[in-house]
Amino acid sequence: MNAEILAVGTELLMGQIVNTNAQYISDKLNSIGINVYFHSVVGDNPKRLEESIKLALERSDLVVMTGGLGPTKDDITKEIASLVLKKKLVLHEDSYKRLKDFFSNLNREMTENNVKQAYLPVDGIVIPNNKGTAPGCIIEEKGKVTVILPGPPYEMRPMFDEVVLPYLQEKSNFKIVSKYIRTFWIGESKLEAILMDLIDNQDRVTIATYAKSGEVTIRLTCKSKTIDEGLKEIKPFEDEIIKRLGDSVYSTENEELEEVVAKLLIDNNLTISIAESCTGGLISSKLTSVSGISHVFDRGIISYSNNSKIENLGVDQSTINKYGAVSRQTAIEMADGIRKTSGCHFGLSVTGIAGPEGGSDQKPVGLVYLALSHDKETICKELNLFGDRERIRNAAVLHAFDLIRRQIGGIVIG
Ligand code: ATP
Ligand code: MG
Repeated sequence: MNAEILAVGTELLMGQIVNTNAQYISDKLNSIGINVYFHSVVGDNPKRLEESIKLALERSDLVVMTGGLGPTKDDITKEIASLVLKKKLVLHEDSYKRLKDFFSNLNREMTENNVKQAYLPVDGIVIPNNKGTAPGCIIEEKGKVTVILPGPPYEMRPMFDEVVLPYLQEKSNFKIVSKYIRTFWIGESKLEAILMDLIDNQDRVTIATYAKSGEVTIRLTCKSKTIDEGLKEIKPFEDEIIKRLGDSVYSTENEELEEVVAKLLIDNNLTISIAESCTGGLISSKLTSVSGISHVFDRGIISYSNNSKIENLGVDQSTINKYGAVSRQTAIEMADGIRKTSGCHFGLSVTGIAGPEGGSDQKPVGLVYLALSHDKETICKELNLFGDRERIRNAAVLHAFDLIRRQIGGIVIG
């Protein structure tokens, strides 16, 4: 089965919004073995929308459309699709009731034009919308499947995951099973060299690598009758790769580094406080994006100025005078300081030069010190990062999480 994703909306063509729906849906379709051959975007124009739907249905078995299901006159997706598919729009009682309930729960009056959202192509499968007003639908006609979903991603995603994906999976007589191995700071080319023979000889289990700022994810995929069978086939490859990559692997469950660190802290009941200079709160922000972190995260301080490092963290004025704010010694005192005032198991600190200004020959842009203090010792890591300000700051954040992960994992830091 091959697919096309047709996003509807003039806003997309004007560059006012990014077509994240296409990316989301493509990723999900690929994961169940449906090849996506086309992404198209069309504005809210009846003639061009009609042409786009016709073209998509000519060349693709599955057409997933998003957007243009709102109550206003310029929302025309369903109307035009029903025209092309020759499926009349009829009032769907259940959706109409849900719509009325939606408004009464919000204590808002339902306007006349909202009723149009409860009209759906006859004989279609209705996809309820629990987050908004527009239901979606699936229409099967002459061996082709058309899916119509609302534009807002927070409405579209659960509808796609809960109804469309299972529906498509049901239609296919095999499962695509994937396992993800996530690594940090190994480099894509080095990683490929280590796995070269496995990649060259891949057969039923395919191996793909994806790199993004310091991280490389390895995806192992297998087509099989059941998920269990697929996982069983993948297992020996997974084990071999983990053996070869050792402690660079931080997750086999497709988790983010901060999720892994949060879990390690929570599971081991280890508390932490964080003092950040050049990352300006990014580390604390990422860590607090993980739910449940309040059990172990005590505080985060952004200590940008020398004064704040001295006043809030207890760094010695003489340390800053002698070694500078960006130095091993200052990083260590920052980490020790926040650990002591907070009484946490760990104090983490970061100080560095994110650039583009502020570098010198001795201390170039990208020089970052991370320190992790606990009651036995304070370890400090010097990083020499490259890239623009954003890249340097983001890399420092990842390195900070990696430092904590390795420390809790009991791994010696080089
Ligand atoms: P509404 O009832 O909100 O009008 P709709 O189904 O008519 O929903 P649109 O009017 O096309 O959808 O888009 C509404 C909003 O949804 C857009 O302003 C945008 O924020 C988001 N959106 C629409 N299409 C996409 C897309 N392809 N990718 C990401 N976001 C999108
Ligand atoms: Mg709309």
